[in-house]
Amino acid sequence: MDAKLMAPGAGGACADSVCAEGGTEMDFYEEVGIAPYINAHDTYTVYGGSRMAPQTLEAMAQAARHFVDMEELQRTLGQRIAQMTHNEAAFLCNGASAGMLTAAAVCMARGSMWRFSRLPEIVRGTAGEIVTLHCQHNAYDKAIAASGARVVEVGDADETPVYELEGALNENTAAVFYFASALYARASLPLEEVIRIAHGRGVPVVVDAAAQLPPVDNLWRFTQMGADLVIFSGGKTLCGPQDSGLILGRADLIEDCIRFGAPAHGVCRSGKISREAMAGLYTAIKLYLQTDQTAHTAQLRQMNETIARALEPLDAVARTEIVPFGPVGQTYPRLFAYLKQGIDAKAVRDAMRKAHIYIGIEPEKNAIYISPLNLSAEEAVQVEHCLVSVLTAGPETRP
Ligand SMILES: *Cc1c(COP(=O)(O)O)cnc(C)c1O
Repeated sequence: MDAKLMAPGAGGACADSVCAEGGTEMDFYEEVGIAPYINAHDTYTVYGGSRMAPQTLEAMAQAARHFVDMEELQRTLGQRIAQMTHNEAAFLCNGASAGMLTAAAVCMARGSMWRFSRLPEIVRGTAGEIVTLHCQHNAYDKAIAASGARVVEVGDADETPVYELEGALNENTAAVFYFASALYARASLPLEEVIRIAHGRGVPVVVDAAAQLPPVDNLWRFTQMGADLVIFSGGKTLCGPQDSGLILGRADLIEDCIRFGAPAHGVCRSGKISREAMAGLYTAIKLYLQTDQTAHTAQLRQMNETIARALEPLDAVARTEIVPFGPVGQTYPRLFAYLKQGIDAKAVRDAMRKAHIYIGIEPEKNAIYISPLNLSAEEAVQVEHCLVSVLTAGPETRP
C-alpha cells in the first residue's frame, strides 16, 4: 500500500475541542524522508504519544516569541493549574518520569538543599529508602531509583500483606510510591489503606497516575484521598506536549519541587521543561477540563462501532467487542476483534504496520485491538479499509 495514501489527514484526533485539526503536516516529514504513521494503537511515546490541539500549538508558538523569568512562569502556571484541578499546588516538568524522579528527590531531601545537592549520594539525614508494592512493579519505576533511593518492594505477585508495608516503614523511608492502575488491584492494597498506614508513620505517599486519564476527576481524586503528590503525563490523553508532565499536591512539597526540580542543578536537571512546553501543557489541561467527556466518549464509541460493523462479517473474525476501558484501566472505549484459528494476530499487526498503521494485539487471546484516541475521522476510515483488506487478504495473515 502506498504510504502517502496512509498519511494522517486533517481532523479531530481526541475530540473536537481537545485534539482537533491535526492538519496535513506532510512538508517536514517529506523533507527529512520519514513516512508518517496512523496511530490506532494508543498514546504510546514510541509513536509520538498524542496529538496537540491547534490552540495548544498556538500557545507554544506565542510563548516562544519572548523571554520570561522561568520561575515566575512555573509559579504562575502552577497556581493556575492547581486551581483548575482543585489541588493545593502544581509543578510542571518534562514528563511523568521526571515527575517521579523529582518527587523522589524532594521526599528524600526533606527540605535540605545540602542533602538534595548530594543526591544520588545518600548523606546523613537523607531518607534513603522508597517503598513500592511488588505487584505494581512496572517499566517506569526506574525513575525512582534514579534519585539514588534504595527501592524496597513489599508483597509479591499475589498479595501485599499489611504487615509487610508496616514493617518496611522506618525513619529512613522517604515515601511510599503507589502506581494507580486498576489492573493491579487484585494483589495490591487499596490506595486509601496505603495512605492510612504511611501517614500513621509520617511517611508521604506519591501516586504515579501518569496514564490515569480519563476519568478527568482523577486530577483531584487521589489528592483528595490524601495522596501527598500525584504525577501525570502531559503527552498522553491530556494531549499536551509529549515532553511535559505534572506533579500535583501538597503546597510545601511542591515548593521543594520548585527549589530542587529542574532547572535547578542536581539530580532532577534532566527534567527541564521549556517555556513552550509549559504553555502547551497549561493550555492542554485547560482544554481537557472544558471538554464534554460524555460526548467525547460517545464519539470514540461511535468510531469503534463503525469499524466493528465492517469487521463483523469477515471470515477471519470470530467476534468483535468494545471494551469500555484503556490498557491501564482508563475510561475510554477500545475495539477488540478476536480472530479465528488460523489467522495470526501478530501477522495482522505486521501487515497493518507495513501499511503505516499502528494497531494493538493481545497474542494470548489472538485478538487485535484499536484505540481511536488518536484518530481523525478520515484516519478512522483508512484504518477500517486497511483492516478489512488485510483480514481478507489470506496467506500473509496465516502463521
Ligand atoms: C507513561 C508513564 C510514565 C512516564 O510518563 P512520561 O510522561 O512519558 O515520562 C510513568 N508511569 C506510568 C505508569 C506511565 O504509564
